[in-house]
Parts: sequence; C-alpha cells; structure tokens
Amino acid sequence: MNYLILINKQNGIPKDYVPNNLVLVKIPTINNQKIYLEKMTYKQIKLLLKDMNKIFPRKALINSGYRPSFYQENLLNDLIKLKGEEALMRFAPPGHSEHQTGLAVDLAFVDNANSKIDDYQNEYEWISDNAHKYGFIIRYPRGKEKITGYNYEPWHLRYIGDDAKILYKYNLTLEEYHEMFI
Ligand SMILES: [Zn+2]
Repeated sequence: MNYLILINKQNGIPKDYVPNNLVLVKIPTINNQKIYLEKMTYKQIKLLLKDMNKIFPRKALINSGYRPSFYQENLLNDLIKLKGEEALMRFAPPGHSEHQTGLAVDLAFVDNANSKIDDYQNEYEWISDNAHKYGFIIRYPRGKEKITGYNYEPWHLRYIGDDAKILYKYNLTLEEYHEMFI
C-alpha cells in the first residue's frame, strides 16, 4: 500500500480498484453502518478516537470509510440533482475519491450525524492539533481550498503514516507535499 498516494480531481485511480487489505470496523459507527477501512488506517483511527473520546463528552464515531466507485457515482449524481455545480466542490467524481482507497475516514458525532462545524469547534480543533500523531492529516484544510479543490472538511481524515508529522509542522497539503518531495 502506498500511503502517500495522491488522489484528487487531477489524479485518479482505476474505477475497479479495490484495496486488498480492507477490514471491517468493529467499533460503533454512526447509525451502525457496516464500514470497511484499510488495515493500518483502522488501527490508527481506533487509537485516535480512544484518546479523543476520553476528553470530550460528545463521542466521535466513524461515519464513512471505504467507498467503491459506483457508490461515489450515485452519491455525486444525487447531490448534483440537489445542489447543481456546487456538488463538485463537495464530492469527488468516481475514481477520484480517496474513500476508494480505504485510507480516508469521515468522523461525525454520535449526538448529531450532520455535525455542523461551528457546533464542534473544540472537537475539530483537537483533531486538527493531534491527528498527525496517529498518522492522519486534515486532507481539506481551511484556506487551502484552491489547492485541494474542496471546501474545508475538518471531519475528513486521511491516513498517510509518519509523514503526517511533517505536513502538520509545515502546514502543507498532500498536493504541496507531492509537488515538493515526490
Ligand atoms: Zn470524506
């Protein structure tokens, strides 16, 4: 598994790509969804959630993980019907979603699955300050929308491994990191 793989609107993966090391999430998920994640991603997000949920009373849970490309396609089509072009700032076209690798995790809060950013500022701040310790980055940070192509999404974590510490320290997106070093 290439944990530094860059997937965005310019860089895709084959639509039929399925990671070979997906594991079923066995901790509680939002609405008891059956969710799969890449093995290391799952191991590390469990540690992050364990530590985070010791601090905050409103529990964070996994809301989304691996998504096959047909799922992504349906999701995007539904959203375009509702929101028009704006949907493209929120959802990736099939073959261009990190969720297809199992390395991306969306978190949400158990008391409100459609958690608004403002309602969970402290929680999201903790995630943003600590995710790198577990190998995650906030993939779509505030102020970098032009580089990533997506709106700020504090709940979307991407597992990349140890390099996360460098991206955090220098405030780099995965796009910028690739441009500089890969
Ligand atoms: Zn996501």
